[in-house]
Amino acid sequence: MKVFDLQCSQGHCFEGWFGSEADFADQQARALVDCPLCGDGHVQKMLSAPRLNLGRAKPQETQETHGDDSPARGTASTNEVALASPQTEATQALLHLARELLARTQDVGNRFAEEARKIHYGEAQARPIRGQATPQQTRDLLEEGVQVMPFVLPESLKGPLQ
Ligand SMILES: [Zn+2]
Repeated sequence: MKVFDLQCSQGHCFEGWFGSEADFADQQARALVDCPLCGDGHVQKMLSAPRLNLGRAKPQETQETHGDDSPARGTASTNEVALASPQTEATQALLHLARELLARTQDVGNRFAEEARKIHYGEAQARPIRGQATPQQTRDLLEEGVQVMPFVLPESLKGPLQ
């Protein structure tokens, strides 16, 4: 049994009980469904009822189609994004290099520019060193031909290893 909200051409609303939707369609086609208030045989399912867009509500159908398009357009305008894991291979490789650097260099701290110059000019034993230098000190060293390499230490390696 199916219950449909029906409306006649005069705008009267009423319920109709049918065995099935096909049963309703058949009775409607043969004008066997009429309005209990005015006897009008031109009965349609109400606009608010689902599936009514099969018939006369062409303009509304078009609007509904546009409405359905909107989410699709929104989807098309978005991009695939991925949140990078902090433990990617690249990060692991960088950490490995940083550990190697730390293991193979002597930390001279903020005396780096001074020590680098001494080594460069043969005033101190040649050895790999690391330390802190200001951008200006780094530029000066490079202009003097001292091969220094600025690098950023990963946060996780700062502290205990230094
Ligand atoms: Zn009626």
